[in-house]
Amino acid sequence: MADLQTKVFVVSAPSGTGKTTLNRRLVSDHPEVEMSVSYTTRSKRQGEVEGVHYHFVTRERFQELIDRGEMLEYAEVFGTLYGTPRDEIRRLAHAGKIALLEIDVQGWRQAHKSLPEAKSIFVLPPSVATLWQRLEQRGTEPMAVRWRRLMTAKTEVANGTMYDHFIVNYSLDAAYEELESIVIKGKTSKIGHAEGEALCNRLLDEFANAPWIQKLALEFPNPT
Ligand code: 5GP
Repeated sequence: MADLQTKVFVVSAPSGTGKTTLNRRLVSDHPEVEMSVSYTTRSKRQGEVEGVHYHFVTRERFQELIDRGEMLEYAEVFGTLYGTPRDEIRRLAHAGKIALLEIDVQGWRQAHKSLPEAKSIFVLPPSVATLWQRLEQRGTEPMAVRWRRLMTAKTEVANGTMYDHFIVNYSLDAAYEELESIVIKGKTSKIGHAEGEALCNRLLDEFANAPWIQKLALEFPNPT
């Protein structure tokens, strides 16, 4: 895998941070960038297209791909399996594309050794309160699901220090400019590693001490 001469960028972020919107905009503005198409066991959402947004497969088929060693990495996220097929990186390399991988934190932990040249980007919300607001604005999910996403975000932020670049999504436009400057112009993020680490710690502090989170934790002691 490491011998393939292609630029690979990995983008991770807690859910509700806007990473999918950012990535889709980047791909649409820059034809030289292409998203790696993952496999998933979840069902298609409205507007999603097989082979474009994901390959939608059964658990059995997904397991078969794992058993055959065809997954570069995979992870179970909110009860659904997601994985990056090794073939995708090869396909994008042969097509001369910059590969953009939108994978979760567990996935990057598995894949970073196979992709030592890849640059990793962690998108963060300005605060946990903002993240919660954005999860609420999506509007469709029950409270218990939003709470579970928030608790997953906490674990993800705790692992944020393994990333190379950090983008704080204060506004979608500013975050997009940052992403574009890292992937297209080869710049480093405005936030350096030490600052990124400090930001992750500040968010973890908010997770641990914000009164509104403590109140919700009493209501939802065991995220399901
Ligand atoms: P969604 O169902 O909203 O498209 O994605 C849910 C989560 O799965 C997101 O955090 C996304 O980054 C993650 N994800 C999507 N594809 C992959 C993949 O191939 N591998 C891993 N590890 N995570 C993925």
